[in-house]
Amino acid sequence: MKIVDIRATTVAVPLEAPLRHSNGAHWGRFVRTIVEVEADNGLIGLGEMGGGGESAEAAFGALLPYLKDHDPFQLEALRFKIANPTASLYNNRTQLLAAIEFACLDLIGQHLGVPVHDLLGGRVRDRVPFASYLFFRYAAEGHPEIRTPDQLVEHTAALKAAHGFTVHKLKGGVFPPDHELECYRALAEAFPGDRLRYDPNAVLSVAEGLRFGKAIEHLDNDYLEDPVWGLEGLRIVREQVRVPLATNTVVVNFEQLASNVLRRGADVILLDTTFWGGIRPCVKAAGVCETFQLGVAVHSSGELGIQLATMLHLGAVLPNLTYSADAHYHQLRDDVIEGGKMAYSEGAISVPSGPGLGVRLDKERVARYAELYREQGGYPYDRDPGRPGWYATVPNERFADPERDIAP
Ligand SMILES: [Mg+2]
Repeated sequence: MKIVDIRATTVAVPLEAPLRHSNGAHWGRFVRTIVEVEADNGLIGLGEMGGGGESAEAAFGALLPYLKDHDPFQLEALRFKIANPTASLYNNRTQLLAAIEFACLDLIGQHLGVPVHDLLGGRVRDRVPFASYLFFRYAAEGHPEIRTPDQLVEHTAALKAAHGFTVHKLKGGVFPPDHELECYRALAEAFPGDRLRYDPNAVLSVAEGLRFGKAIEHLDNDYLEDPVWGLEGLRIVREQVRVPLATNTVVVNFEQLASNVLRRGADVILLDTTFWGGIRPCVKAAGVCETFQLGVAVHSSGELGIQLATMLHLGAVLPNLTYSADAHYHQLRDDVIEGGKMAYSEGAISVPSGPGLGVRLDKERVARYAELYREQGGYPYDRDPGRPGWYATVPNERFADPERDIAP
């Protein structure tokens, strides 16, 4: 098999409502670049990449001269052809590599007639459990604002009823820590027996991170995710707070994983198939974590169905996956894959069993959402439409006002 073409299409798929986070917001839609890698046997492998609200079409187009005639089976060679670690100091292609790796695994699976999880060691579970992913958000058609503890609890109850979640992750770093602590406590009180996680995207000062961590020690926490920035910051918090710490920000490659093994800052490594450069590096990292008794979970950097499939195949093959995965997926109004959005059942999604990634593009949906991207364009992920002129610092002190009912 040889690669003969790489095509990229940028789509904008509507979210239920604009989602707020510590750096800004997802402005009511996900902008994702869909990648189709065509082989000389006519098969097409699928990949997907985010990009902070921007298109990555041009970057994928530029890879064709590197990958024309490349055999998709040659996955280690692929890594060095486009993301050699020293060349990457200049061209920084890890996320592009990830999307191409997804597509090559999809091609291999289709060619052999086996699902991707069979290429990765075989599945140890048929369904991957997910946490709800709770965001403060602006109101949008049919979906009210979420800012107060009561609004958050009401939203969580609706998600739990619809999808069966028993683990809840609050994305914070938007409002002052005391307000978000009140929200977190409200979740604990409203859903006894369920487990919780809090992720302020590393914007708390060490002092605030310690204060928040100590205040939730008695609750049913999975972990506290990136309360502060950096492995050194996490190490300080970890010394004084009796809640496991997780990260998806400062352990995203093997150098950082080694550092965290030698001197532990995070107890749980959140494996992102994009940030790590593919599904296979995540599997390798999970093996290291198994050896050193670090926890692992599957991270979400935003996804449509192709990326979700990579997360499901990863989750399927990790024996040491003891935490529910994260996904923004339930926040989407639609998907670009055949059949529309995959369904949650009892808080889990079934691992695709078809050849390759097990998902195919719905051409009509792709065309519709490519048109929406042409109409609406990208968005600045690191700006908040309701706070013109504001930008985040780390640590942040200029939080949004929880008393103000503002809308962009
Ligand atoms: Mg995170």
